[in-house]
Amino acid sequence: MATRAQAAQGGARTSLGPVVARRCLCTAYRSHQFYDVEKEEARRHIRVVGTVPNDRQWVPDRVCECLGCGKRFQVEQGEYHHPWWKWTESKAPKTIV
Ligand SMILES: [Zn+2]
Repeated sequence: MATRAQAAQGGARTSLGPVVARRCLCTAYRSHQFYDVEKEEARRHIRVVGTVPNDRQWVPDRVCECLGCGKRFQVEQGEYHHPWWKWTESKAPKTIV
């Protein structure tokens, strides 16, 4: 039986970096500013669970919860030449909605 050797080999890191058990699509939100909260919600990727007032913008920040992994983000929406959304991972504890 080569199971032990195979297991050891399977533990080797690939060139993709740190091992992530299951990469959720929400990992892309933080690196890009074109994820429209409303579109993501319509696609059932996230749901909006609350808002946070933002003095710098026309619209309040929205607190979004990933439907894939439950991670929360605070999203600031702004407009420069075109609309953008800044997704920041939220450390706030879960609240009952
Ligand atoms: Zn997620």
